[in-house]
Amino acid sequence: EDTLIALLSGIAAQVGQYLERRRAEELTVELAKTKDEFLALVTHELRNPLSVITAATALLDEDLESLTTEQQHEQLRTIGRNAQRLSVIASDLLDLARLEAGHVAIDPVETDLSAILGEALAAHREAAAGKNLTIVVNVPERLALHADPHRLRQVADNLLSNAVKYTPTGGTITVTAAADDNTDEIIWAVTDTGIGIPAAERPHLFRRFYRASTARERRIPGTGLGLVITRTIVERHHGSITLTGTTGPGSTFTVRLPRSKPDTTAAPGAPG
Ligand code: ADP
Repeated sequence: EDTLIALLSGIAAQVGQYLERRRAEELTVELAKTKDEFLALVTHELRNPLSVITAATALLDEDLESLTTEQQHEQLRTIGRNAQRLSVIASDLLDLARLEAGHVAIDPVETDLSAILGEALAAHREAAAGKNLTIVVNVPERLALHADPHRLRQVADNLLSNAVKYTPTGGTITVTAAADDNTDEIIWAVTDTGIGIPAAERPHLFRRFYRASTARERRIPGTGLGLVITRTIVERHHGSITLTGTTGPGSTFTVRLPRSKPDTTAAPGAPG
């Protein structure tokens, strides 16, 4: 009789554990769904009013005579600047929600990374010059790979704008890229001499909304979304992104991307 009771209570315990696990799984799925819905709601509800503000600001801007005092001009610029910042946050949130939900198609085509880096560098030259930053570029004339050019440009823009933003006046930004024939990868890095990220905080860096103490202490504005988006794009290309290098001042972000289609089964085209 004792063994029967022991057996039954053993079964009861296992059933209990099973039910608990099932409930936990259900809750995780529910939570993920709620999170997605929340993100989508916030993003859409933010974006519409913001575009109205931006449009109204632009209209006022065209009718500057109707503003009489310098204070009014300054207020208009403040509205414009803040609307701009909020739209960046809203579109980052939307982008991330779509990427994470798998709603963003990655369209890989034959792409030249050197050209993409060139365009991205040109777009950030002015901001870099404004802070008297030196830009060193060590990239071959052409670096072909199979990837989505628009998404790679987004990665380049994110890394470069961070490098500019987190490097004080007079610093240096170095961009390198090269093909690694052994692994059939392209290795690409953006290095700066900026404020850096403390070693203890590095493991959290690619977490949503995470901002390092170095950035917060200096009150440099940001959302902690850019690197998450960047990593998601790189991983959807079957690549990786890491923060490498010293823990002293400055940072190096290294991106590795496979050169060919991941599912390519064709034999190498060596002649003979
Ligand atoms: P944001 O810059 O909007 O805060 P990111 O996701 O791009 O968001 O970066 C997350 C955090 O990583 C930043 O807040 C900052 O603390 C740190 N970070 C990113 N890039 C650099 C860099 N080049 N130098 C120093 N810190 C950086």
